Amino acid sequence: MLKKYADIIIDISHEDVDRTFQYSIPDRLLDLITIGSMVQIPFGRGNHIRTGYVIGISDIPCFAPDKIKEILDMAEDGITVSGRLIALAAWMKEHYGSTMINALKTVMPVKKTVKAVARKDVILKADKIRIPELAEAYKKKNAKAKLRLISELADTEKLPMDIVTAKLNISSQTLKAMESEGVISIETRSVYRAVTRKYGGNEDEIVLNQEQQCIVDDFQKDITEGIRHTYLLHGITGSGKTEIYVRAIKTVIEQGKQAIVLIPEIALTYQTVKYFTGYFGDRVTILNSKLSSGEKYDQMLRAKNGEVDVVIGPRSALFTPFSRLGLIIIDEEHESSYKSDYPPKYHAREVAVKRAELEGASLILGSATPSVESYRKALSGEYKLWQLHKRARNNPLAECSIVDMRQELRLGNRSVISYELAQDISERLDRHEQIMLFINKRGFNSFVSCRSCGEVLRCPHCDVSLTKHNNKMLICHYCGYTISEPDACPSCSSKLIGGYGTGTQKVEEEINKLFPGARTLRMDKDTTTKKHSHETILAAFGNGDADILIGTQMIVKGHDFPKVTLVGIVLADLTLFANDYRAGERTFDLLTQAAGRAGRGELPGKVVIQTYQPDNYAIVSAAKQDYKSFYACEQSYRSLMKYPPEYHMMVLLLVSQSEELLDETADRLMQEIQCRFSADHALRLVGPSVPEISKIKDIFRRVLYIKHSRYHKLVEIKDYIELYDVSGKTDDMVHIQFDFNPINMY
Ligand code: ADP
Ligand code: ZN
Ligand code: ZN
Repeated sequence: MLKKYADIIIDISHEDVDRTFQYSIPDRLLDLITIGSMVQIPFGRGNHIRTGYVIGISDIPCFAPDKIKEILDMAEDGITVSGRLIALAAWMKEHYGSTMINALKTVMPVKKTVKAVARKDVILKADKIRIPELAEAYKKKNAKAKLRLISELADTEKLPMDIVTAKLNISSQTLKAMESEGVISIETRSVYRAVTRKYGGNEDEIVLNQEQQCIVDDFQKDITEGIRHTYLLHGITGSGKTEIYVRAIKTVIEQGKQAIVLIPEIALTYQTVKYFTGYFGDRVTILNSKLSSGEKYDQMLRAKNGEVDVVIGPRSALFTPFSRLGLIIIDEEHESSYKSDYPPKYHAREVAVKRAELEGASLILGSATPSVESYRKALSGEYKLWQLHKRARNNPLAECSIVDMRQELRLGNRSVISYELAQDISERLDRHEQIMLFINKRGFNSFVSCRSCGEVLRCPHCDVSLTKHNNKMLICHYCGYTISEPDACPSCSSKLIGGYGTGTQKVEEEINKLFPGARTLRMDKDTTTKKHSHETILAAFGNGDADILIGTQMIVKGHDFPKVTLVGIVLADLTLFANDYRAGERTFDLLTQAAGRAGRGELPGKVVIQTYQPDNYAIVSAAKQDYKSFYACEQSYRSLMKYPPEYHMMVLLLVSQSEELLDETADRLMQEIQCRFSADHALRLVGPSVPEISKIKDIFRRVLYIKHSRYHKLVEIKDYIELYDVSGKTDDMVHIQFDFNPINMY
């Protein structure tokens, strides 16, 4: 039998993971050892017995075979949760192309020394039965802030200080006053315990509707029968998907298992967490970027020790080291934030499928606008499709109107607000209802250009246009390069130079002109630089401090404002301009989400979509809230153009400080791939080309696109390139990164 060798890491405390040691595998263990296995090995001069993890297996010895020591045995506990995560890392390395170190660092939390930090809570001190009386008194005195806090405390009795100050917008004077009235007290705690608190349960309050009940029953049946699936839960906005997640989690917890819930970072709001803690109390914890790395590590430890049953967090929470993982849920599974920007450039949805398989866990993907990838798999039967057609509280979907902005121009309206939208805004203002206006940040870049020669001011290091800010500064959003706005064009000296493009600020100015009495709030990159400013703005709007909220993408997702009855999309086309095959999907998603914001409460909602392309299928089907017709068009376009998911695409990004060397390497690599794989007719090669952003921070970039109908073929090509690279045929000064089925185009 052919001798096999294993690459083993001894210590997974990270600084050391790049040090692997090769051992030979004794024949009797050949069938037992896999990637992730924990084994015993003789180590060092004294051959002390140590425990190590297998991270790779090959037939090729790295040095003289008789000098290679042999693995002694399997370690007693076989594959542990760390072993399974290591196996997952190995799969990611292979599947996405990265170093093993980067893959391991992605799946394992980095250990940081944990410093205890004190946090504060606001606690209800007054007797609960006094709350109505207190509330009445505050109402009389028009003490709005006090009233807000007491109503919230009526529910929960204890609130983290940052939520009180940021989300509820309560000042420290108010807190002091209430403290001296004896109504509340402020307590300090150490954070390295739970990051969530026990809230009152909303259990029993909700009776599932028939559609929901069917789905929950189906899941319970599968679990009881020991069947593991990937489910796609397609439910319109407000159809009660969260309630299904909760019931599914309860089912697996009853079986002694644990659950991971992934949500896009932006949706990780106080509301979401409150919903889950309502059911699971302090058996749920959160992981997100706002926690320090110490706090994060602490939560990982709690999970590992079985102190919690549920972890909620963004894509990195997928690697929570639960040893009895029973369920993974990915809410808003179509969101692009599930794809990593750093090597390994993995997609959480795909890795979740793999992890669920390794752990024997179920996977639920949920969305109102499923990704084309997932819906296709659901239709083919690879995923089980669950559908929710009705809103849970039976309030109807918003009425949708498409306004043709070309027609508007013909009628002599040069404003960015159409006559119809203006009329609708004015009616809502009269009725004291609220309005959200949405501006797509990407399209409305306020760049500075010269009207004489057309020159656009760009960053000298990054090849992107500089963005104009309020204070007359021009800033590069990639590297931070900043100059003050010049008086004359640097290339032709003309004075006719200035900022163009309509941003949130422009829209706000226009609204203030059209409706001088309206109170507006603006939420965009400029108004949210401070910590908690997001929450502060949203809280102010939620409390009725403004009539109109104007903002970018940030205002679209997840927020629930019952008094909003009108959503205006100032220009829907903008995502369609992007040179990106996912533009249609993004537009459909954005419009659907925006429409979902209108009419969440008792009052019916309306959506006005302004566009220059009123016939575009993404816009038309979004206006009708018709996912199926959108999918049909999108799918045939993808298949015609050979884009994912019909075809798979691998992007090679080559970067170097030397442009010359870069071009030379890119050309040579392309030729090499062409030669080697030319017999394969299903292969499509594009490039090398200069990407839209041709350099960042003085590092030049080139891309190669490789398409094939089979993912595995791309992995094969990637392996070949890695070998080619390692064997020193590409220059040290050129670095290669892989990106499979990219989310953002280059
Ligand atoms: P989705 O995530 O599908 O957009 P949510 O889960 O946020 O929708 O549910 C919308 C609202 O409907 C929530 O306030 C939720 O508590 C409520 N809800 C869910 N299921 C029911 C039900 N069966 N009866 C009444 N209300 C429900
Ligand atoms: Zn000029
Ligand atoms: Zn720059």
